[in-house]
Amino acid sequence: QCLVKNVCCIGAGYVGGPTAAMIALQNPQIMVTVVDKDPARIRKWNTKHLPIHEPGLHDIIRIVRDGSRESPFINERMHFASRNHEPLSIPARSPNLIFSTEVSRSISEADVILIAVNTPTKRRGLGAGSATDVTALEAVSREVAIHAKAGAIIVEKSTVPCRTADTIKTILHAHRPDVDFEILSNPEFLAEGTAMKDLLLPDRVIIGSSPTASGKRSAAALSSVYESWIPRSRIVTMNTWSAELSKLVANAILAQRISSINSISAICEATGADIDEVATGIGLDPRIGSKFLGAGVGFGGSCFKKDILSLTYLAESLGLPEVGDYWQQVLDINEWQRERFTRRIVRSFNGTLVGKKLTILGYAFKKDTQDTRESPSLECIKFLLEEVPSEIAIYDPCCNPATVTEELRRSIGAHVLKENGGPMEVYEDAYRACEGSHGVVIMTDADEFKTSPTPSLSKTTRETAIQDPRPFPHPEPTESEIFALQRYLSGTLAAHDPLERFVDEPECESGCVECEREGKRND
Ligand code: NAD
Repeated sequence: QCLVKNVCCIGAGYVGGPTAAMIALQNPQIMVTVVDKDPARIRKWNTKHLPIHEPGLHDIIRIVRDGSRESPFINERMHFASRNHEPLSIPARSPNLIFSTEVSRSISEADVILIAVNTPTKRRGLGAGSATDVTALEAVSREVAIHAKAGAIIVEKSTVPCRTADTIKTILHAHRPDVDFEILSNPEFLAEGTAMKDLLLPDRVIIGSSPTASGKRSAAALSSVYESWIPRSRIVTMNTWSAELSKLVANAILAQRISSINSISAICEATGADIDEVATGIGLDPRIGSKFLGAGVGFGGSCFKKDILSLTYLAESLGLPEVGDYWQQVLDINEWQRERFTRRIVRSFNGTLVGKKLTILGYAFKKDTQDTRESPSLECIKFLLEEVPSEIAIYDPCCNPATVTEELRRSIGAHVLKENGGPMEVYEDAYRACEGSHGVVIMTDADEFKTSPTPSLSKTTRETAIQDPRPFPHPEPTESEIFALQRYLSGTLAAHDPLERFVDEPECESGCVECEREGKRND
């Protein structure tokens, strides 16, 4: 039985928002509050245009944030529609997910506090370029120390270096020596683009705790929250340090597979072997498995690189430089593969892009997300700009053009934008982006790129479309998993108010770019 009544999640990002939404959906009796110090992000979570694009997220947010109401008219309709003419009672559901900037208040009310703040690579000082920057985590620990009620369970959801729970404990103890807080490690394994499916049907949930009776009681309390929808057999308990390290190692090994297959792709290109055939040949061995064996332009995103850097730093600081060097190679191959790919683009245009237009399809680091952190596209674009093309057009189905334009301005400079006489233009439409292009570079395996009729794309291009790299490798959900998710979501939605399910969606603030785009489309 779940005794947790109130959960506070600190950090309304790619992990905090979706995780809190799933916990709220599966535990209507728990009040979940997501807090963030960024008011703009919280404002977006409270409108219909969420700050994060994830398939399925919007539907779940509407249920848990806005609730669903009972309607007599709907009940009447359902009564006539039901086969045995029994009146159907459709329970109204009260909202149980709140997005707020009131960090300290929410902490003070919580039985469980999830810490899901960013832990990027340190940019300056000791360990710059590889150590993890735990500034946000420290700041949050201080807030928790001051405001949490005695007995509150503190949970690391952020990915952290091994033994970070000790750091949090020290901070808590310095402020509240009279209270013994339990710190659990509960790393998140969701992948962007399939976050809701991953949260709904996780392979495993890891909960690390101290081996004391109180540590185990806290782990059991957290486990009870997950047991509302996840079989007990998939919830694995272990010691705190193993849990912290498991997350870093999981990402390092996934990235290692990508670098391994990419290194072999270079041998294939030089010998006439086909990398897809090799991947099939080896992937059928159950000891190897077929996932994460698609060769491509290399991995991007906010996690793989920073987590390997964190692992190498950890190894080096433990006096294990050979271990650090081993994992560093995974990053080196990744960079080399990306450079190899961009060099190949230039070579296929006779070594010059002067006077030519290229179209980049896919700007986010992979499909079904608008997250552009560590995007391979951006690195590729920087390289191509050196070749002075007449235009580089960008299109991504999930990215807001205004946001991408702003990012280009920030990361490369305003001078590269078309509006300032530069070559870069971001489009809202793939076909317009491809018009008059000499080459189309497909950077992600977005469904739209796979299903778009290539002849009409290439009709608008004057020369060959470059279809390499092959799709970005990430595990595809199986048909049955997708079906389970869809059935689950439609079941949940139907159970709550089938004809007029939700209260009206909250309006966005005036000037919302997405609303403007919708308005234009409706004109
Ligand atoms: P994010 O940058 O999207 O979100 C972090 C949020 O924390 C931001 O909105 C930020 O404003 C907020 N924050 C920072 N300091 C704060 C403070 N003092 N008080 C309140 N809010 C504060 O990051 P993310 O992608 O959600 O990642 C969060 C953690 O989860 C990281 O450790 C990451 O490594 C890990 N992780 C990420 C993914 C992923 O796919 N993105 C997957 C698994 C694990």
